[in-house]
Amino acid sequence: MHSNSFAPADTVGVDMADVDVAARDLAVRFAEASRVVARAQAVQARVLADAADLGMRRVAELASSSSREAELPVRALAAELGVAANMSDRTVQRRMNDAAVLAEAFPATFDAWDEGRVSAGHVAVIMEHGLPLTDVEARAEFEAAALARAEGTTPGRLGSTLARLAESLQPRTLTERHQEARASRGACVRDIGDGMAEFISTQPAVLAHAMHDRITQQAHAIKKADPTDTRTVDQIRADLVADMLLTTTPCVETDAGLSDGVGGLGAIRGIVNVTVPALALAGVTDEPAELVGRCPIDPATARALAGHATGWDRVLADPITGCVLAVDRYTPSADMKRFLRARDQHCRFPGCRQPAHRCDRDHTLDYALGGETSTCNLACLCKRHHTLKGETAWTVRQLGGGVLEWTSPGGHVYIDKPPSAIRFTPNTDPPPF
Ligand SMILES: [Zn+2]
Repeated sequence: MHSNSFAPADTVGVDMADVDVAARDLAVRFAEASRVVARAQAVQARVLADAADLGMRRVAELASSSSREAELPVRALAAELGVAANMSDRTVQRRMNDAAVLAEAFPATFDAWDEGRVSAGHVAVIMEHGLPLTDVEARAEFEAAALARAEGTTPGRLGSTLARLAESLQPRTLTERHQEARASRGACVRDIGDGMAEFISTQPAVLAHAMHDRITQQAHAIKKADPTDTRTVDQIRADLVADMLLTTTPCVETDAGLSDGVGGLGAIRGIVNVTVPALALAGVTDEPAELVGRCPIDPATARALAGHATGWDRVLADPITGCVLAVDRYTPSADMKRFLRARDQHCRFPGCRQPAHRCDRDHTLDYALGGETSTCNLACLCKRHHTLKGETAWTVRQLGGGVLEWTSPGGHVYIDKPPSAIRFTPNTDPPPF
C-alpha cells in the first residue's frame, strides 16, 4: 500500500491503493526527458537550417550557374559540420536540406518541435505526408490538423492518419502523381550484419508485385519438381533473384561502358573486392574476411570466391601495424592502382566509405603543380570528395605511410589513417609453419 502523502495533485479522487506511484513517477520523468531530447534535436535542426541558409546564400553569390558547381558551397559546409560531429557529410547535407524544407514549408511544426511538443519522429511523418501537397493552402490546413493529432499519439499511428488526410487534401490525381513518383525508382544495397545485406529495388507497384509473383511461381515449380529440395520457398526466391540478376542478359542492348565492344550488357559481370587473411584462406584460422569497405563476410564464402577468382593481388602487410608494405608482381601503373586499392580500400575523405574501385586516384599535390605520380602523393577519393578537394577551400596533405591530414575551410584539422593499417589485428599465436 502506498502512502497518499506522495500522491500528485491530479490524482485527487483516485483510490491511491490502485496507483503504482513508482511507475507513475518513472513515466513522468521519461516524458520530461523525451521532451528535453526533442527540444535538443530541434536546436540541432535549427543549426542545420542556418547552415543550409548560409550555403544557399553563397550559391546565389556564385557567378557560374553550372549545376555541379552550384552545389559546392553547400557541400563544403556540410563537410565542415559533418566532420566536426563525426557524421557523414552526405547525411549532414541531407539533414540540412530537410531542416531548410521544414523551416520553409512547416514553420508551425518546427515551433512545436522547439517547444518539445512533438518529436523528431512526428516531424518526419508530417513532412513525409505533407510535402506531396504542393498547394500552399492545402498544406497549411494539413499542418494544423496534423499538429493537433500529433500531440496525443505515436509517430506510427500518426502516419496512417496523415496518409488518409493528405490523400483527401490532394488536388492532383493519382495518375499525375504516379508519373512523378516513377522518377524515384532505383536499387540499392544495405548491409545488415552477419555477412548479409539487403538488395532493395524501388519499382512501380505493378512491376514489383509481378516480379515477386514470378519468382514465387518459379519457386513453387522448383519445389514440385524436386520434393527433396529442403530450401524454403523464400530461400528459393532469393536464390532465383541472385541467379537471374547475376547471369541473365537484359533485353536492352548497348555498348555503354564496354571498351572492347564485345558481348553487350550480358557480358558485364558484378565486381566485388574481398580481403582475406592468408591463414583464413588456407583454412588454418576462422578470422572473418572483408567485403572491402563494406562489411565482414564469413571465411567459407571468401574461400569459395577465391577458388573462382580470375586474379589475385597478394598484399604483404606489416604484421604489427598492418600497414601495406607491397603488392606482388609490382610493375608501374597497374600495380600502383592495386597498391592504392589495397592501402586505401575506400575514399579517404574522413568518414566516407565509397569503395576504392569506384574512386578516382587523386594527386594530393596536383600533378600540374609538380606533384609526383607515386603512392605517397596519390589517394583514393570518390567523385564527390575529389570535387570537394579540388573546388572548395578544403585542403589535404600526406604525412607519410598513407596518412592524410585534412583541413576544413573553418580551420579544423582531421587525420585520416589508411584502413589497411587498422584492419586485421595480428594473431599472437605463431604461424603453424
Ligand atoms: Zn568520398
